[in-house]
Order: sequence, then structure tokens, then C-alpha cells
Amino acid sequence: MARQIKPQSGIMDIALYQSGESQIGDRKDVVKLSSNENPFGPSEKAMEAFRRAAHTLHRYPPTDHASLRRAIAEVYGLDADKIICGVGSDEIITFLCQAYAGPRDEVLYTEHGFSMYRISALAAGAKPVEAKERERVTDVDALLAACTDRTRLVFIANPNNPTGTMIGGNELSRLADGLPPKAILVLDGAYADYVDGYDADTSLVESRENVVVTRTFSKLYGLGGLRVGWGYGPQPIIDVLNRVRGPFNLSTAALQGAEAAVRDQDYAAKCRAENTRMRAWLAEALAELGVPSDTSCANFILARFASEDEANACDDYLRGEGILVRRVAGYKLPNCLRITVGDEASCRRVAHAVAGFKGQR
Ligand SMILES: *Cc1c(COP(=O)(O)O)cnc(C)c1O
Repeated sequence: MARQIKPQSGIMDIALYQSGESQIGDRKDVVKLSSNENPFGPSEKAMEAFRRAAHTLHRYPPTDHASLRRAIAEVYGLDADKIICGVGSDEIITFLCQAYAGPRDEVLYTEHGFSMYRISALAAGAKPVEAKERERVTDVDALLAACTDRTRLVFIANPNNPTGTMIGGNELSRLADGLPPKAILVLDGAYADYVDGYDADTSLVESRENVVVTRTFSKLYGLGGLRVGWGYGPQPIIDVLNRVRGPFNLSTAALQGAEAAVRDQDYAAKCRAENTRMRAWLAEALAELGVPSDTSCANFILARFASEDEANACDDYLRGEGILVRRVAGYKLPNCLRITVGDEASCRRVAHAVAGFKGQR
């Protein structure tokens, strides 16, 4: 009998996620600026909490994440009942697609939007749809024009990765209010922590029934390896997402490490300030070398080159100097390189290497 074992339709259209490289052969002096990680690592307090969790590894973790949700709610001034925690914000994106988008449904995002939106839509059997951006900035009119009665989810990262640009709350309100009745607006706030005084537009969640915000511990909090993120949304949506969430999705170590990290706002503020300072320095240093970038609101810079060939040649050159950055042709930005803002030494090293590449040293 001929077997006919096949995955659900859409699955084989998923291109495997390309993560930022971390090694160049066995070179010891590699600077990794390819994954938007915090160059200073996690808070000491988060590491301490993680180590303490070793003593209770024989116990199942709590399923309700109450203690972490309470800490997040206190720090960000939110309602703990409207928070859901996941294995990175990637898992919250997955839950949203799984719960709200299936075959024949559409999941909308922007031209240079984060690759997980497409992957999660396809994994759920839904159809990914892209709207144009305007000069690497989210275009609300293009998104509204791309909506149909099959649109179920609209994903916007604000600030966006890999462009680093963001749009204002008024534009986001206009988008939320203009969506078809069956659609949810998901604001991915992975980089919101880098914007001083910005609430990631969680206020839109309070005043509407169709807005969900996702946040992460992977970027500013320096816990990409721990895998913790969270979502904030209207109670009925959070109730739905909790039904698809595995009861023990987060380990005790992850829960306790993240809680200690979010309670250490002094450390978070220091990392934010240092990112702001070095981001401005790096953008200016590159601009002086003839490599412009849009004003970034995140922890990376999208460096623009004259052509795809020049961008690739610069990437090769940087590699030769032991510096890893990210090619973004997969994000329809072939003439750009995304460079994470590292610590001061790394920023100086990358600027020095670009100068070498440009023959200006
Ligand atoms: C890094 C990033 C995330 C965070 O993913 P985690 O699963 O929380 O590590 C989410 N969205 C965007 C746009 C990102 O760049």
C-alpha cells in the first residue's frame, strides 16, 4: 500500500528561520552584532534567581505564572489578569495564529515585517499577506487597503525589526479602528523597552477590544536564552490564548529569572541609556563614512549601502575582521545590513572596520 503521509498544507512553504550567526570558524575574538542581544547580559539579580531555581528542579512549575504576571503588572502599571506569558513572545505570536487564523483566513503584516509572522501564519494553515511600507516605515493606509473580510490578524512591530522605525499612537489607533470586525491588531513591542517613556501602546488595549500587545525579555532584559515573553490583551482574548497554552510552558528557572529581571529596573534603565548613547554614536560614525540609516528607535541600526553587492562585500569584510552582523535580503532589504548596537568597544570596532572597508582609514 502506498503511504500518503503529508503535513498540513502550508507547512512546506515555511522557510526555516535563519538565526544570527555566532561563530566564525574557531576565532576567539568574534563580536556578535547579528541578533539584537543586550551586550551587557542579564541583570545579576536575574542570574541569581536562575541559580536558586536549581534547588526546585524536581517540582513542576506553577501553571498560572501568577508571580511573574504580578511583577510585570506592577512594573508596567497593567492589569495582571490581562497578561499571558509564553516561551518568548514568539510563542504568543504562535498562540494568536493558532487560535484565530486557520485555512482560508489571512494574516497581514508589512513588507519588512518580522519573519515569525509569516512562519506562524503558515503553521496555522492561514494565508500570509504583505502590505507595502513607505520608505521603510509602516504605512497604515496600505495596511487598511490590504484588509479583506478574511483578515484575522494584523501584526505590526513598533519599533519594527529590521528597519528600526516606528509610528505614532494616533496612527495605530487609526489602524485599530479601521480594521474589519473579525481582525485583531497585534502590536509587537519587542523593542518598546528601548524607547524612553513609551508604554508600547498598551493604552490601546485598555480602550479597545481588538488590540493585543506582545513584549519580551529577550532584548533589553538580556534573556534571549531563557525564552520568556508576554502578551497583554482584552480579557476574552487572553482567556482564549490560555486554552491553547501548554500548562507548563515556562520552567521555574525561566519564571523566576524573568521576575527578578523585570523587578531590576535600575539595571534596565542603565542598559536603555547606554543603548541610546551608543546608537547615536554609531549612526553618526557610519553616516560620516557614507553609510546612512533611518533614525532607529531600537537596539540596532539598519545600515544602507549603495547596492546589494556593496552590502554583501561589507558583510564579508566585517567577517574577516571578526564582526558578525545580519544580512536582511530575506526582509526585502538586500542593500542593507542590520547591526546590533553593542557596547562601546564593539561599536568602535565595527565603525573602524567599516572605515577600513570604505578605504577611509
Ligand atoms: C526579537 C524579536 C522578538 C522576540 O522574540 P522572543 O521570542 O521573545 O525572543 C519578537 N518580535 C520581534 C520583531 C523581534 O525582533
